[in-house]
Amino acid sequence: MKKVALIIGHNEASQGASNKNSGVSEFMFNETLAMKIADLLVASGIRPFVVYRDGTYEELPAHVNLTEADIAISLHCNAFNKKQNGSETLYYVKSKNGKRLAGLIQNEIVKCLRLHDRGLKPCNVAHEGKAGDRGGHLLKYTDMPCAIAEPFFIDCDKSLALAQNKIDELAKAYVSAIIRYYN
Ligand SMILES: [Zn+2]
Repeated sequence: MKKVALIIGHNEASQGASNKNSGVSEFMFNETLAMKIADLLVASGIRPFVVYRDGTYEELPAHVNLTEADIAISLHCNAFNKKQNGSETLYYVKSKNGKRLAGLIQNEIVKCLRLHDRGLKPCNVAHEGKAGDRGGHLLKYTDMPCAIAEPFFIDCDKSLALAQNKIDELAKAYVSAIIRYYN
C-alpha cells in the first residue's frame, strides 16, 4: 500500500506564524488541513501518517523516517508584512523526486487558491540550523522525497479568509498532487 507522511508544521507549544486579527496560527490551520488530507487519502486507498513535531527540528527527520512512507509533505504557511500574497513550495536541491513532488503540489495549490505563483524554492542547506534554513534540515535528512508547502501568507487577512473558505478544496489539491506523483 502506498504511504504518505503528512507533517504538521510547528506544534501546540510553538505554533509558528499567526494572523494577528483572527489568532489563527500555522499549527491550527494545518492540523485541520492534515486531517482532511488524511481522510481523502484513506478514501483513495493511500495510507496517511500524520506526524506531529513532538521533539526538536533536529529529531524530526528521524520521526518521519520511522513511518517508512514513500513521500513526505510538510504543511506550513508563509508570513511577511500582512499584505504579501502567493504560494510557494520548497524542496531539497539535490532531490530530483523531491523537486517533482514540490512541482506537482505547487501546480495544484496555485490552481486551487489562484494566488500569485511564487514558484519552487530550492533549499541547499547552506543555512542549515540557522535563520534562513526554512526546513532545509528536514528536506535533507528525510529518507523519502519531501516537500514543504506554503500555500498562502497566514498574516494576510484576505489570504487566510480565502484559504479557510477553500480548505476542503485545498485538501483535495494536495491529494491530486500526491496521486499525480504516483502516476
Ligand atoms: Zn511554518
